[in-house]
Parts: sequence; C-alpha cells; structure tokens
Amino acid sequence: MPAGRYAPSPTGTLHLGNLRTAIVAWLAARATGRTFLLRIEDLDRVRSGAEAGQLADLAAVGLDWDGEPVRQSERTARYEEAVAALRAAHGADAVYECFCSRKDIAAASSAPQTGDPADGDARGTGAPLRPPGFYPGTCRGLTEAERAARRAVRPAALRIDAARVAGLPAGGTPTATAGDVLHGEVTGLVDDLVLRRNDGAWAYNLAVVVDDLAQGVDQVVRGDDLLDSAPRQRWLAAALCAARGEPAPQTTYLHVPLVLNAEGRRLAKRDGAVTLEDLAAQDPAWTPERVRDRLLESLGLPAGPLAAAAPAFDPAALPRDPWVFTGL
Ligand code: GLU
Repeated sequence: MPAGRYAPSPTGTLHLGNLRTAIVAWLAARATGRTFLLRIEDLDRVRSGAEAGQLADLAAVGLDWDGEPVRQSERTARYEEAVAALRAAHGADAVYECFCSRKDIAAASSAPQTGDPADGDARGTGAPLRPPGFYPGTCRGLTEAERAARRAVRPAALRIDAARVAGLPAGGTPTATAGDVLHGEVTGLVDDLVLRRNDGAWAYNLAVVVDDLAQGVDQVVRGDDLLDSAPRQRWLAAALCAARGEPAPQTTYLHVPLVLNAEGRRLAKRDGAVTLEDLAAQDPAWTPERVRDRLLESLGLPAGPLAAAAPAFDPAALPRDPWVFTGL
C-alpha cells in the first residue's frame, strides 16, 4: 500500500512550523487513501524526552498514524545493506572513503573550475547549479596506501561515486529531477554525497532514501528548506533500486513553505510562544484544537477536525509563500 509520512527529528519540541507541515503530510496521505507513517529521524542530535513530547503534540493537533513509529537508530543494518548493494552492483570503490574536513571542501569548491558546465558560470543558462558544499571529488581515486596514511590521522566518511554509479566517465556529474506539487520540476546536480559521516553516523540522505523505499513511501511531505535535497534523493533511490534489481517508485514531493518570524527568518523556539506548551502557558484559551484551526486557516483550509478537511484537500491550492507568524 503506498504511504505518506512525517519524519520529525527529535531534537526538541515541535513548533508551529513543524506542526503545520505535519498536518499537511497527514492531509496529503489521507486525502489520497495512503497509509500514513511516522518515522523518528534520531540518528543525530537527539534530545532526551523529545520523541515522546513530539508524538503527544502530533496527537493533540489531531494526527493519527498507522502502526508504530519507526526509529532510524534501530535500522542501521538496512543502511549497511544499502552500501553493500551499491558496492555489489558497481564495485567496492563505488562507495569510497573520504577524509576531507568541511574546510577542505570549502577551499576546494571555491577554486575555479574552468570549463566545467556545473560551476557558477552556468547561472542564467538554465543549467542546474552546483549546490553549496558540492563535493569536488578530492578523495575519489586515492590509492590504498594513501587511504591507510589518512586513516591514521582522521576517521573516514563514506561517499558514493556518483559518476561511476550513473555509468558516466570518471568525474562526470549526474543530474536528477524531482517533481514537486508546489515547486514543479526541480533539477539538481548530484555530487558524491556522504552516505556515512566520519563520526560513524549514517547520513540523512541515505537514511531517508533507504527508509522511504523500505516503507513503501511514495509521497514525501516536508518543509521546503529540504527542497534542494529532493533531486539527489531521487537519484540515490533510483540507484539503489537498480542495484537491487527493483523498480524505483514514482515519488511525489510536496515541500511546504516554511513559517517565518517577523524578521523573515525561519521560525524557531527563541521566537517566543511557538509550541503548544508555551502557547497554552501564555493563554489557556490556546487549546491544541484552536491552534490546529489557526494552522488550517493559515493553509487556506477550513477550521475543524482534520478528517473534515481531508476530502476537500487539494495540495496544489496550498499557499506558495511562507506564513509570517507574528502571534496567533
Ligand atoms: N527529519 C527532517 C526534519 O525534521 C525531515 C526529513 C524528511 O522529511 O525527509 O526536518
């Protein structure tokens, strides 16, 4: 059964922006007869107690979900299996060790890349732009002796050799396109993205792709701060499916415009009463139901129980601009 999902990171309390996106994810799944799943993205920066608080707040604004939420921290065998599948299909070097620091990458990426259609000179030509932090391939093709020397100094991250996996000449740059309900076709360059970080944590992009495939997710709803990740995730999902000999799903994306504070920056806890708990503490009249109604209105939807909003839900009619929050 095709599924939609909401995938919070348990780094703290959900704020209005998170709750609003979660409501859209629920409506999008329910309106299309999909299963709705919750996935806890707890590979990183976990705050004790945050998961339970997030689930309680999601339930309080009216979300329900199918089955138990899954936790990424319990799924590491699947991420290892994905790396093994890519290596089995394309050779051991299809996933290679990288010893670069962020500083190394910034320095290498800012060096002129003459003749490379992927660099900033492509601006205005309609070509996909090189995203910030684009990895220039410094550690691709290190010899085993060079790797051994670097391993003694710094633990390695693992990166995918995108050109090799895409069947392009060495150093080539694949592009990929994701279809988004609000943003249209989004095309991006695919660099040698990190699959496992050098602190041993599995990388966000790999975990999302592996889990969405394993969970039958073909509808991805999340904040539009992650729009840039969509083409690379599409590409990785297709690569993984091909390596396993499986068909790749046709995934629909819906990147929801963010909630901004009065200064035009992304809403954050420091912007005052922006969580259910803080709102209720400020004014007991702000029950979870009233907050839900206000969030529905901000989405151009009728106030009331979510199940009542689902039949008329049209994702294409959602506001395309951020919601500037200056108080409820
Ligand atoms: N865990 C991410 C977040 O809380 C969302 C990732 C995703 O939906 O792909 O922003």
